Amino acid sequence: MARYDEGSRSIEGWGQTRLVIRGALVLATVCYSLVAPIATRCAVIAALPQFLPVAQVPKQRDSQPKEDDTARALLDRVGKPDQAVVETFKKAGMQDVKPHTLTSEERKAVEAALAALPALNKRVLERHLHNLAFVDGIPGEGTGLTSPSKKTGLSDITLRASVIDESLTTFLTNKERRVYKQDASGMTITVAGTGTNALTYVLLHESTHVVDISCGITTTPGGPFVQSIWTDYSTLAPSLAVITPTTYFRGADHLPMAKATSLYDALAQTPFVSLYATASRQEDLAELVAWHEIYTQGGGDLTIELQDPGGKTIRQWHPLTFPKVRERFTEVDQLLSSQPGCASQS
Ligand SMILES: [Zn+2]
Repeated sequence: MARYDEGSRSIEGWGQTRLVIRGALVLATVCYSLVAPIATRCAVIAALPQFLPVAQVPKQRDSQPKEDDTARALLDRVGKPDQAVVETFKKAGMQDVKPHTLTSEERKAVEAALAALPALNKRVLERHLHNLAFVDGIPGEGTGLTSPSKKTGLSDITLRASVIDESLTTFLTNKERRVYKQDASGMTITVAGTGTNALTYVLLHESTHVVDISCGITTTPGGPFVQSIWTDYSTLAPSLAVITPTTYFRGADHLPMAKATSLYDALAQTPFVSLYATASRQEDLAELVAWHEIYTQGGGDLTIELQDPGGKTIRQWHPLTFPKVRERFTEVDQLLSSQPGCASQS
């Protein structure tokens, strides 16, 4: 019996009904996305080597030629979305979702993004990815979902096709703005991501969900990615609950832009690399691994900027320099260097 996985059960990009859908779709796992108002919701760094431990300096890991072969092999998993996945989108209100056939240029972009994944993620995808599909007709900032295939027990990743041509900054900014509603302040938020494109970021995030689902990273009691942070799927440890911002990603209403400064000042005191990472332990891991890789492998950066009505930047936050985030990069290094048995199971 398939079941919706805790973290990977929301369609990344659709919001408010996440908890409702969690309850209603107890039998399958859907994950990832940004935020959108109606259905489920499930989807940035400056190189600061002088502030980061040597272990975090960009480096090559497991770069044997075989890795390119793996990316090519994974490209063979690209196909039409499973009908059950399409139905999940439709039930979430996206009636116009249709399979997207990749052009040759798009296939090259997907192969490059797959090749950029860490070796662990690629090994796990080799063993546990059933299908990688792209669809048209997902509205707004929705991204896609990662879900287990009822037929195979493996994972399906289904993505909004237009993400292939999207810049990382556009993708992240559109997602972040879901947190807010305009107010008299006239201020705006921009989330600038460098070092890679939206597709690679999304595949880093989604493939980490597959690693998590397959290896039980965040469901291991006392594991390094949950200890003192999460007491269950979406419940924060008491010491963090009192300081972590409660936003749309945690079921709150849209907040006035005037709240932005206090939100990010609070986030800077937490181990979370983004507001989206506060949604659940699975989103936390996916965000942490994705940004770790964008920084260490791509030399990228993430900057949240608050602009006044005239477009002038009045505050900036750099989540990759948040002290408690940097501490966790060591744990990500250890995870990605490990050889968990789940990656070798058939
Ligand atoms: Zn996710």
